[in-house]
Amino acid sequence: MTLPPLNPVYAGLGTTIFTTMSALAMETGAINLGQGFPETDGFPEVREAAARALMQASNQYAPMKGQGALLEAVADFYGRTQSLTLDPAKNVLITSGATEALAAAVFSLIAPGDEVIVFEPHYDAYAPLIARAGGVVVRVRLNPPDWRFSEAQLAEAFSPRTRMVMVTTPNNPTTRLIPPEDWALLARFCVAHQACVVSDEVWEQVVFDGARHHGVLNAPELAELGVKIGSAGKLFALTGWKVGFVCASERLVTQMAKAHQFLTFATPPMLQTAVAFGLRLPDSRFAEEAAALQRSRDLLRAGLETEGFQTLPSEGTYFLNIDLPRSGIALDGQSFALRAVQEAGVATIPLEAFCAPGGEPLPVIRLCFAKSDATLNRGIDRLRTARRLLT
Ligand code: GLN
Repeated sequence: MTLPPLNPVYAGLGTTIFTTMSALAMETGAINLGQGFPETDGFPEVREAAARALMQASNQYAPMKGQGALLEAVADFYGRTQSLTLDPAKNVLITSGATEALAAAVFSLIAPGDEVIVFEPHYDAYAPLIARAGGVVVRVRLNPPDWRFSEAQLAEAFSPRTRMVMVTTPNNPTTRLIPPEDWALLARFCVAHQACVVSDEVWEQVVFDGARHHGVLNAPELAELGVKIGSAGKLFALTGWKVGFVCASERLVTQMAKAHQFLTFATPPMLQTAVAFGLRLPDSRFAEEAAALQRSRDLLRAGLETEGFQTLPSEGTYFLNIDLPRSGIALDGQSFALRAVQEAGVATIPLEAFCAPGGEPLPVIRLCFAKSDATLNRGIDRLRTARRLLT
């Protein structure tokens, strides 16, 4: 029997690197420093609020654009923490996770043939979403240790067909924050080309060493072009919840809501109630969480450096990256990651997984430190073994 052809966008794709590495870790009993999720469950007070809402409030469809209490909580939270002025009824949309928000942005803001600029290495979902929407992915390659784009790179990447730029700050996997001067440079190109900026800011509260997050809506020139995407998963260390927020001009929110209504339509009501509660927790509660993660980062970094690994700066996110050549390891990231999980019992993520296949080499691996001290110490031991076996 001949079977119908399937959509070619997915033809060359396997499961995501995160799923692949987590499965290998399970299979081999490896310490999993690959997929980015916290080892212990997130904010208990937020989980309790969800449990109460599950039993005491409605479990039927929530409003398509989000529950009123959550829309208000999102606007207030960003007013308080990032000095943004948002009208909850006009400038906010609740989605089923940041990934749905990304899909709604790409599907509703570009048309087939439009070019979308992404900065490589970039989060794995971006390119397949753009391709599925008929867009053309234009890659700008960034390099360690600063991972910054230059004016010359932007001048080369932008064209009359550029309709969108996708950025991530704090960045997964590079961990760097976009500084205000880089926002100003990017804004100049976006305004000149009338290109939207979809800014994935899910890690906005996970920043270290007193750094300050600057998001797309903090650049006044981008008020009409910027789409800010946030996520309860990272704010409350509850990555399984999949509750995302979009903040943008009324025009863009209205347009994105049209895509959202046919993607997931609405988001589970008990989770929205709990996230609204969580967003009203004091700033000190979020600071406590970031400080604990910073401690974990420092523990992992110190342990790795003692073992002779060279790490790259980690400004935010759950991740710390190792520079393989500077650590004396002459393998590409993919080979190191596969051998480390199979031969040394530790799962990691190669940064090549965030790049188009066949591009310039990027021998860097990503480790997740949102783990207990015991797990991190076991991970360091296993990486010591990996280094011994693989140098
Ligand atoms: N955001 C997570 C990471 O970077 C992965 C999410 C997923 O598995 N799709 O590790």
